[in-house]
Amino acid sequence: MPNVLTNTWPNLTKEYRTIADSLRRAQRVLIGTHQHPDGDALGSALALMHALRLQGKRVTAYIPDSAPDFFSFLPGFSELTTLKPDVQSFDAVVLLDYTQLYRTNLEEEVKAHPLTICIDHHYDNLQEAKINVVVPQAAATTQILFDFFEKTRIPITKDMATCLLTGIFTDTGSFMHDSTSPEILELAAKLMGRGARLSHIAHETYQKKGLPSLRIWGRALSRIMVNESTGAAVAVITHQDLQECGATLDDLSGVVNMLNALPNTKYALLLVEFEPGKIKGSLRSETHKQTDVSQLAKKLGGGGHKLASGFEVDGHIVQQYGVWRVVPV
Ligand code: 5GP
Ligand code: MN
Repeated sequence: MPNVLTNTWPNLTKEYRTIADSLRRAQRVLIGTHQHPDGDALGSALALMHALRLQGKRVTAYIPDSAPDFFSFLPGFSELTTLKPDVQSFDAVVLLDYTQLYRTNLEEEVKAHPLTICIDHHYDNLQEAKINVVVPQAAATTQILFDFFEKTRIPITKDMATCLLTGIFTDTGSFMHDSTSPEILELAAKLMGRGARLSHIAHETYQKKGLPSLRIWGRALSRIMVNESTGAAVAVITHQDLQECGATLDDLSGVVNMLNALPNTKYALLLVEFEPGKIKGSLRSETHKQTDVSQLAKKLGGGGHKLASGFEVDGHIVQQYGVWRVVPV
């Protein structure tokens, strides 16, 4: 993950102006983001939705699959839709925080649309939109959006501030990752000054845990294995585990960071069979561990950041003769 302290923020005046002009002319705007949306995906989509609605636009914010319930405190959450939209009926499409087009579930439609805008902080975003703003120095996509709003004089309301701060809070691992620069803390202070409540965001996204969540955490933590030769700290959760605990993939949010806390390891991997035959892998490392987990994620068809990445594969997680394995569907 690039260090924001040593990487200067690019001058995006021209791109911002082009985006603001295009959106000003549009009447109907579609906002998209990635599958399994996280705090940054939801925070950026909703912040932009509020901003455009205040300009009188008709806005649809589409997420490919449903968002975790614990994000329901976000203003506008109930207006997110998982109904696949008719992309060509919109004047403009803005894709946020998504890395790769297939993760938006709108790949073909977006490629055929004449006015598409990408705003992302993933360095491996292929910049396939008509207008692209990719800033890997940004700790979160909501940091780029804040810069865009400020530079184009779009007012930031309390609701927008809450959405933007949520993206920053969750993508910096609650201000613990290396990306937590002085600039990010200043930005958080500004957003609090505009009415965002950090303690509320922290409680809703990080501290609050229901019984299913605590139960599935217990299972994951009881399964930690350390592979001495690769330095990987691995835990697996089967679909049956989820069912027995009444939990979903969302309830495991944060577990992989806990695995990554183990000293003398190179990286952490959490494998979850979230639907029968579908496995989500989450990878984490830390600067001092000197492991670029995005390389491993890429090999498995996924991607992400050097210190936080992920992938999805087909397969079942099973235990055979006491050993956990991924077997083909
Ligand atoms: P998480 O483990 O929290 O789901 O994801 C961590 C990061 O990895 C995300 O911010 C995203 O950049 C990336 N990521 C997670 N899953 C996938 C995936 O299936 N494909 C790609 N390209 N990136 C992913
Ligand atoms: Mn992000």
